[in-house]
Amino acid sequence: MAGLAGAQTSDQGFRLGAVHASDSGMASADLNMVNDRGTPTRRRPIRRLDAVAQNRIAAGEVIERPASAVKELVENALDAGAGRIAVTLADGGKRLIRVEDDGAGIPAAELALSLERHATSKIDGDDLVNIATLGFRGEALPSIAAVSRLYIVSRPGEAAAEIGAVAGTIEPARPAARAPGTTVEVRDLFCATPARLKFLKTARAETQAVVEVLRRLALSAPGVGFRLTDLGEDPATGTPRVLLDCPPERGETEAARLARASRLMGADLEADGVAIAAEREAFRLSGIAGLPGLARGSAVHQYLFVNGRPVRDRLLLGAVKAGYGDFLIRGRHPVFALWLDCPPAMVDVNVHPAKAEVRFREAATVRALVVGTLRRALGAAGHEGGSTLSATALAQMTPIEGPAAGASNGDAAERARNLGAGALRWMGAARRPATGGEWRPPAPTATEPLPGLAETATPFALPAGAEAAHAESEEVALNHPLGTARGQLHETYILAETAEGLVIVDQHAAHERLVLERLKRERAEQGIKRQALLIPEIVDVGAEAEGVLAAAEDLAALGLVIEGFGPGTLCVREVPVLLGHACPAALLRDVADELATAGTTEGLEARLDAVLSRMACHGSVRAGRRLSLAEMNALLREMEATPGAQWCNHGRPTSVRLGKADIERLFARR
Ligand code: ADP
Ligand code: MG
Repeated sequence: MAGLAGAQTSDQGFRLGAVHASDSGMASADLNMVNDRGTPTRRRPIRRLDAVAQNRIAAGEVIERPASAVKELVENALDAGAGRIAVTLADGGKRLIRVEDDGAGIPAAELALSLERHATSKIDGDDLVNIATLGFRGEALPSIAAVSRLYIVSRPGEAAAEIGAVAGTIEPARPAARAPGTTVEVRDLFCATPARLKFLKTARAETQAVVEVLRRLALSAPGVGFRLTDLGEDPATGTPRVLLDCPPERGETEAARLARASRLMGADLEADGVAIAAEREAFRLSGIAGLPGLARGSAVHQYLFVNGRPVRDRLLLGAVKAGYGDFLIRGRHPVFALWLDCPPAMVDVNVHPAKAEVRFREAATVRALVVGTLRRALGAAGHEGGSTLSATALAQMTPIEGPAAGASNGDAAERARNLGAGALRWMGAARRPATGGEWRPPAPTATEPLPGLAETATPFALPAGAEAAHAESEEVALNHPLGTARGQLHETYILAETAEGLVIVDQHAAHERLVLERLKRERAEQGIKRQALLIPEIVDVGAEAEGVLAAAEDLAALGLVIEGFGPGTLCVREVPVLLGHACPAALLRDVADELATAGTTEGLEARLDAVLSRMACHGSVRAGRRLSLAEMNALLREMEATPGAQWCNHGRPTSVRLGKADIERLFARR
């Protein structure tokens, strides 16, 4: 017994309230108390909990599930300077967690101390500011030891030693054999706290959580090799399965981080992500941000590191979200791995038991750096960037076989439609045109008058000399990033030829973004220009009318002037000039809808941005409208001039690109 009380005693101390009144035998015990369930209890004298009870309580905070034990043990290995770390699990970590490293080891004389609470080799207690290690609280090993069967064997120098603990009761250390480094083995986690055991999920879910924790740690230390092996349910009989295997990445820090990120987060990120590198004052931000098309339905694959420490910090996550802004539709979550580095004194890491949150001394600077960098990087991702068809998509474009295609036209059309849907993966079903699927002859030539341009909702501003642009030489025309329009498909997609290949633009998605950016520009400059409706429109909005009315002033700043008009009814007086002849009723209903879904959880600014984005939709050219070549080219040129135009207001790409080489590959010319 290394000076700690046995598990037995601790259980007594732990089960507060289950003690007879006579236990306390003191006058003060007569003081009757009522607990919050209304049961009378007796006050017991204050006494210090013994070490095992303290550790079990701490374990409740620090060790929530197998994945949190893995996190603490691997962090210890990293702090010990390990070059390779191997983790082995059985039954989702419930029966076995083993972490082996080749780090500095623990001297035999300190093994018992390593299992004591608030005992650490990492800080001296004086300086909580310059913390460079992942651990420093001295809580993990004693917490795990208090709720499991723990075994450590370690070799710091020439001699190895081992120590064991069962539910907090420590056996004396004794000599052992091992290569330099440390092995920590945790068996039957939570055997001492059955209540916690009951809360664990299936082995599969717990294993998944461990994989996620290891991914995070592996990203935080790209120079270290990681391997995770699952032994299945029974550690004695299971066949080992390697779930994660990363060799140490060589090279400079930032290059190694990127290499590790592509290894762990998939080839998609490499192809459809932008590299980030920026500095502001003492802070540096680097890593990779997935383009909006990679966004997921849940917040997976979001990795943040502060000075190499994995965090899930609210300030940072909020800043990233703001950086993506209207490149993403609500409910979609971007994919990213971002590292923030700064002098240790600029950040307090001692604000969270699991060290997931941090506090910055200059939070505003950090936010500005993150928001600004992401906004710029995503906006400038370029028309060559993310929307290139991926290799996977290309692979789905199988040739249409032989004469059968001609024989059964319907089939061929169906086939073509399916191929298109599969291959052009960015264009979701939502934007599939309602029109038929057959291929049309090329759109009318440029000599035809621009049909309906004057009376369209918001024609693209045909730049002065748009006609002249037509006269530009083939070479110049093809060298525009989005090329020169050759035709329109399904009255929805613009086909443009570039020097490099073929570009397909979703006319509605693209124009929607252009209108939004123009609205934002107006708002930032002289305010959004409004025009009064000749006849004010009365709109029945229903229950949401009140919420809309409450926002009347903010909406007026966005160019939409409304008034109350009896219960559930509103009157639209003015609309933004840019929205042209948009239907005021449909516009207002959409705005009401947006305000209602955004609720009050989001900041005012974010809600108004969302409203503006909805409004833009009403001012944009629809799918299903025939465009002339001049109109198409005007749209392409404005897209090139507008940052962020490669994403629609919901973060879907507005264009996709097929390279000449890709086309040649499709026809087996390469
Ligand atoms: P902390 O990491 O906060 O110091 P822990 O309870 O996790 O607290 O570990 C206690 C101590 O045990 C550490 O300070 C360290 O000296 C030692 N230790 C734990 N794991 C290892 C390891 N894998 N290699 C070397 N030393 C270790
Ligand atoms: Mg630790």
